[in-house]
Amino acid sequence: MKIVRERAELREALAPARREGGRIGLVPTMGYFHEGHLSLMRRAREDCDVVVVSLFVNPTQFGPGEDLDAYPRDEDRDAELAAAEGIDLLWMPDAEQMYPEGFATSVELAGDLTGALEGDPDHRGPSHFRGVTTVVAKLFNSVQPDVAYFGRKDAQQALVIERMTRDLDFPVEIAVLPTVREDDGLALSSRNAYLTAEQREQATAISRALAAAEEAARGGETSAESLVEAARNELRRAGIEPEYVEARAAEDLSPVAELNGRPVLVAVAARVGRARLIDNVLITPNREA
Ligand code: AMP
Repeated sequence: MKIVRERAELREALAPARREGGRIGLVPTMGYFHEGHLSLMRRAREDCDVVVVSLFVNPTQFGPGEDLDAYPRDEDRDAELAAAEGIDLLWMPDAEQMYPEGFATSVELAGDLTGALEGDPDHRGPSHFRGVTTVVAKLFNSVQPDVAYFGRKDAQQALVIERMTRDLDFPVEIAVLPTVREDDGLALSSRNAYLTAEQREQATAISRALAAAEEAARGGETSAESLVEAARNELRRAGIEPEYVEARAAEDLSPVAELNGRPVLVAVAARVGRARLIDNVLITPNREA
């Protein structure tokens, strides 16, 4: 595996594959790898001739008072893990390279996709997704991948990137892969590193809450509010006061009152100790309904 920091070096390393028409895969990350990241890398390795993993803790997607400075980092360990997955190129640009003096352009999506859930001004706010779409557009332009891999764990982010890709005609296929969880259901996240043993246990209520919503839907409940209430009850039992629990149309995150045969995303954000954790479940209509 080659580690590159400069964009010019990256382009040079990709030139032969591009000339030969090789399939190039990109896995964008903020590092501190866990099995969620590795699952994306494995899929990319299976699908592609050349796999690039980008590692950049993107400052523009963090709001003031968020955990940019505390965000866990371990480049050496990450490089070992990526190499063990057979990654070809690990690209680790610095902030100076991504946002040089005079940088003034951003990519911004409008509507519920970026204004709801994480993008709600009461939560992370629209600047979060402006940071995400701008940096991902830059990664796409630098790597020019055939396919880019994202996790369903960040379901809203995946929807936003799919829409941006479509709207701006990026010739990139977007692959969205399932959430990797611990045995007890906790979704893997770099931010789980902030949790004490006790908080780690408390955090398992988040996936139980989503399972409760799913269970209610399977049992025939069709009111979105009832699904949300089932999830809230589970969180309450664990002493978690969520930032939000919402059920929204899985396609465009528009509000839903009734399931009405459409897939619904139930999403949670909750602070547990120092960690702000997010998770979600996609509820697809009962076949027999
Ligand atoms: P991050 O480094 O947290 O920005 O994540 C990089 C990519 O890994 C994103 O596409 C995430 O959605 C994905 N990812 C993070 N956690 C998981 C997980 N538990 N399962 C699957 N994918 C994940």
